[in-house]
Amino acid sequence: MVPVVYRPEYLTYDFGPQHPFSPQRLAMLVELLEELDPAWGPVAAVQARREDVLTVHAERFVRRVEAASQGAPPDDLDEYGLGTSDTPVFPGMDAAARWLVGGTLTGARLVSGGTARRVLQLGGGLHHAQFDRASGFCVYNDLAVAIHHFLEAGMRVLYVDVDVHHGDGVQWIFYKDPRVLTLSLHESGRYLFPGTGGVFELGQGGGTGYSWNLPLEPYTGDACYLEGFERVFEKALAWFLPDVILVQAGADAHFLDPLADLMLTTRAYERIFTRILEGAEQYTEGRVLFTLGGGYSFDAAVRVWALLYFLLKEQRLPERLPEGWRSRWGQRLGQTLGAELHDTHGPPLVPRRPEIERYNRSNVDRLLDVVSKYLTPG
Ligand SMILES: [Zn+2]
Repeated sequence: MVPVVYRPEYLTYDFGPQHPFSPQRLAMLVELLEELDPAWGPVAAVQARREDVLTVHAERFVRRVEAASQGAPPDDLDEYGLGTSDTPVFPGMDAAARWLVGGTLTGARLVSGGTARRVLQLGGGLHHAQFDRASGFCVYNDLAVAIHHFLEAGMRVLYVDVDVHHGDGVQWIFYKDPRVLTLSLHESGRYLFPGTGGVFELGQGGGTGYSWNLPLEPYTGDACYLEGFERVFEKALAWFLPDVILVQAGADAHFLDPLADLMLTTRAYERIFTRILEGAEQYTEGRVLFTLGGGYSFDAAVRVWALLYFLLKEQRLPERLPEGWRSRWGQRLGQTLGAELHDTHGPPLVPRRPEIERYNRSNVDRLLDVVSKYLTPG
């Protein structure tokens, strides 16, 4: 049994109709899974308590979130990353964010307690939230709360972030901690928010060498991405020997994503997820927790996450998507949705491909060379 953690309250994490982080994506995904899987029956998330949030966030920040949620925003909100166009405040924001944190924590407890080895949290992945600041659509950092939980249980955590944006919040929160290896693959910060995630952000103090970043050139496609991913993921497992893997499965590296410029297809995502599951079998007795993340093409993100669902559950991948679901959501969104789970066409051709490949490969070489000085290979 592979538990899927979900609660309809996740849909209350809503910055408004114009905002890209729309709860509609999740509603659409849940309706699709309900139709495709007769055995659909999620485990109900438990809402995180204030104390859980405080394991990784400053109390002064949490107080601002609470005040803003009640409609009387303090005037220093912007110092805490709140009330911006990326992360506007809305009534009930604190409770909504605690639902997402609670789902990831519920998943982490299932894994650490031995109830399940493999869990999918159908939400969360708010990797930009910092110790004392909201950032990039992320209020509370559910991933960091889950990592804190694993550490308390005595587990070493390999954090793998395939969202197209750098997983900066998680990285900075555990920057000095050698019990957490953060591995983020993302479009280079020279072109994309949040601007960090260079190869030489390695960690600090005792945590030096435990922060791994692979920045990728815009227009990186499947083959080149997968080559880099295989090389660094294998080394992260073999050199760090984690007890558990936590994955932020952002779908915004897909070529249809409107906010970023990587060119992955659903085939690459299938390989990434499969490889992570194999790695977990090999190194962590199968212990792995997946969350969702960014992904702003409704069409692509929902298909990537449905793919993740069926791979985790080891169910046969459906080929065609239900007609009723497609026309219902197509009308609601005013767009045509893919007829199949996998992409039926690829990304546009990329003229600078050799240069892109050379640049990405040199970053992989540089990363592995520099981190090998800190972790003992073998
Ligand atoms: Zn993202």
